[in-house]
Amino acid sequence: MSIEKLLEAVKNHNPNADTNLIRLAYDFAEEAHRGQNRMHGETYLEHPYNTAMILADLKMDTTSIVAALLHDIPEEGKYTLKDIETNFGKEVAFLVEGVTKLGKVKYRGIERYLENLRKMFVAMAKDIRVIIIRLADRLDNLKTLDVHPPVKKMRIARETLEIYAPIANRLGIGEIKGQLEDLSFKYLYPEEYKYVDNLLNKFSHAKEKFLNLAIEKVKKNLKKENISIVNIHGRIKHHYSLYKKLVKYNNELPRVYDIVAIRIIVNNITDCYAVLGIIHKLWKPLKGRIKDYIAQPKPNGYQSLHTTVFSINGEIIEFQIRSEKMHEEAEYGVAAHWIYSDETQKGTVDKKTSGKKNDLLWINELNKWRQELEDNQEYLETLKIDVFQNRIFVFTPKGDVINLPDGATPIDFAYHIHSDIGNKCVSARINEKIQPLDSELKSGDLIEIIIDKNRSAPNADWLNFVKTSLARSKIKQAIRTKKGIFRWIPIINKK
Ligand code: MN
Repeated sequence: MSIEKLLEAVKNHNPNADTNLIRLAYDFAEEAHRGQNRMHGETYLEHPYNTAMILADLKMDTTSIVAALLHDIPEEGKYTLKDIETNFGKEVAFLVEGVTKLGKVKYRGIERYLENLRKMFVAMAKDIRVIIIRLADRLDNLKTLDVHPPVKKMRIARETLEIYAPIANRLGIGEIKGQLEDLSFKYLYPEEYKYVDNLLNKFSHAKEKFLNLAIEKVKKNLKKENISIVNIHGRIKHHYSLYKKLVKYNNELPRVYDIVAIRIIVNNITDCYAVLGIIHKLWKPLKGRIKDYIAQPKPNGYQSLHTTVFSINGEIIEFQIRSEKMHEEAEYGVAAHWIYSDETQKGTVDKKTSGKKNDLLWINELNKWRQELEDNQEYLETLKIDVFQNRIFVFTPKGDVINLPDGATPIDFAYHIHSDIGNKCVSARINEKIQPLDSELKSGDLIEIIIDKNRSAPNADWLNFVKTSLARSKIKQAIRTKKGIFRWIPIINKK
């Protein structure tokens, strides 16, 4: 940790940044957190410092970096928000206040979850940087999660996977979304994580040579056509993202075509389409796998051309082709748009000649979105539904609402209520009718679990269809206890 390193990271993308202000914030944070330690012995300052560093790598503006350095000071108690405002101004104080407020809302069942989400969106409506700082804050917390007791660890990881990662995705910040998901995935589903990790290692190792050959061949052919490449590299799928695909495709690995992909970054849209043509001339594309996200961007703004081809020796490989600007947006999303605000403010970039004018359109879109958000409660509802599309809500006989993942079964429900209810479950009524235990529940279903008090252990076959990690781990635990030996049951059935 050193202020010089942070300033270097900031200057990398913003040579005109106000480094004095960042220095002052660093010193102030050091003084405010002096004597305060993080649980694993390092000084507390490491945390705001790391948070600021993540934002510097995201190319965020000076105000955000300063706010990140100061974000936990009001919590510490030595200095107040007023002190921050006096020293660093209203804007910084506003951001710090927003981040502190968001930190206070925790995941406690569905009601709070909705409330939490609503607050986040409303805060974002005022200044999206609050959310981005909070995402960076959470990312650093996840990296040092080990120090917490298991219950807290699980809570933070679940909250991240269910709230923070979808929001990072919504904002198009692919890099942060991937890291948030993988870190929480590792804590929440350690066995599945290990399985996927192993798979990724083996796979990327086996394909390395062939990927390099394919990259060389593409380079040579693009050179022949006079298309200059900004960057070409292999990219490996994130762990959680691969896991979701495996679940979707019943663990049929060959159906996942994009475990490794070759990413080609070129100067402009014309070149993107030219590259696509050249690749199709070299190798035959797979039917139905050509996707034009340039003409039709994903809802979060993602743009690229994707194609999957039978390449050297018939090896199937996905190519992702995009311009430099699209690449920045895919990695940094909405954060990419703060890159220019710093410079334009200082008058160092002439808006008319910078060629970046179109970027502002995106900001305008976002502003419109914020406006709608504030005006229109209904719009807020659609956003909620979007984030919730992988969740269902079912009722207990007493009318409590239980939140489960899509595809959950009565067994998942039973374990959600209590592990004893799960272990002793013999049948289930869905909407007053007895139904098989592997039935897929739908939102609004009323579930009643019928138990046998004398039953001592659950059925191992349930592991083949339960959807929640809670049910899985409880079933395994009960079986283990009964048998007295540890037995590892693969969650994803290997082929
Ligand atoms: Mn913090």
